[in-house]
Amino acid sequence: MNLAVHGGPPVRTTPFPEWPQFDDTERTNLLRALDQGQWWRVGGSEVSAFEEEFAAFHGAPAALAISNGTHALELALEMIGVGPGDEVIVPAFTFISTSNAVQRLGAVPVPVDVLSDTYCLDPAALDAARTARTRAVIPVHLAGQVADMDAIDAWAARHGVVVIQDAAHAHGALWRGRRLGELGSIACFSFQNGKLMTAGEGGALLLPDAEMYPDAFARHSCGRPIGDTHYRHTTPSSNFRLGEFGGAVLRAQLARLPGQTERREEQWKHLAAELAEIPGVVPQGRDSRCDLNPHYMAMFTLEPGVLRGFAADRVVDALKAEGIPAFVNYPPVYRTQAFWIGPHAGLPAAEELAERCPNSELLGSSGLWLHHRVLLGGEQEVADVVAAVAKVLSGLPGTP
Ligand SMILES: *Cc1c(COP(=O)(O)O)cnc(C)c1O
Repeated sequence: MNLAVHGGPPVRTTPFPEWPQFDDTERTNLLRALDQGQWWRVGGSEVSAFEEEFAAFHGAPAALAISNGTHALELALEMIGVGPGDEVIVPAFTFISTSNAVQRLGAVPVPVDVLSDTYCLDPAALDAARTARTRAVIPVHLAGQVADMDAIDAWAARHGVVVIQDAAHAHGALWRGRRLGELGSIACFSFQNGKLMTAGEGGALLLPDAEMYPDAFARHSCGRPIGDTHYRHTTPSSNFRLGEFGGAVLRAQLARLPGQTERREEQWKHLAAELAEIPGVVPQGRDSRCDLNPHYMAMFTLEPGVLRGFAADRVVDALKAEGIPAFVNYPPVYRTQAFWIGPHAGLPAAEELAERCPNSELLGSSGLWLHHRVLLGGEQEVADVVAAVAKVLSGLPGTP
């Protein structure tokens, strides 16, 4: 078969559904924010209203809206007092912000492996990573699949370690019928352009206790308490405030999320089943305790037999040429230059970390993901993705 990457006709020429999606609700909300004449949250009402709606939606006592998801993680770590000399356990397979945030606080991120089926933090790896300096663990709900919160919460409680959820992929997800705001830990979200709801940039923290809100607020606003007019700064914090335009757009985006999630759940069921029939293709698995998965990414891995020595990025390039929005996976965090800048005393060398994290290694080299907009269409979109994957895998040359 003549691959598009070699000049042949692509499987798909019509675009997938656009992302982000918006309509007159976003437009109306933006104009309302504009007409307030107060464009920062301290003078306006959109960000505060969004916080209440976002908290209620997730069953959390309170939420703080913030500039982005990376800052949400930094703020959560700041709130629990993480600093130099501390260690925070993170999954090796995640977007770099999970470990960057720890480094920003002067602490050491300690990577552990993920499970081969769900791609989420392996609770069985926690014991070996724990030291007297371990302060927190950050499970990531990867691609919308909620990490094993039962095991992670139980382990953390046993050892006095704080859990912070990185929920940047998991807006609206459910774990054994519970919403992420009902799990008793801070959960951090991103509203960056590609995320499941977006204002271009933005983030939020769900707080397990409403009494944490004043502290969180001060720490996201130059250490300035709510309502302060006399420059009584209580902490040397940064400015992570979200503006009113972001808050206004996010209120509209939140209302649209449940319908989109339902559609993605339905389409992923079909896509995963059909991809699994292509020899050598293994879609991301599902822990049945994750009752609702909003599917930030459609992820799968390729077995060595079909890759025949290629790395997955060759397949990604070929899929893109076929008209499929495909992306390479995150490398394990310890394979980035960023990871090794700053204190890392006590961490094994990269090669030893790699030995401890075989699943993260495999995901980095043999896995890939498709943008969730492939799940927002219908049967034809699923059929085209499946056809493109099958075509690319059968058309790869026999030798690299
Ligand atoms: C996107 C993302 C973040 C960071 O969010 P930004 O808003 O881009 O700063 C953090 N963690 C994970 C897992 C992400 O995918």
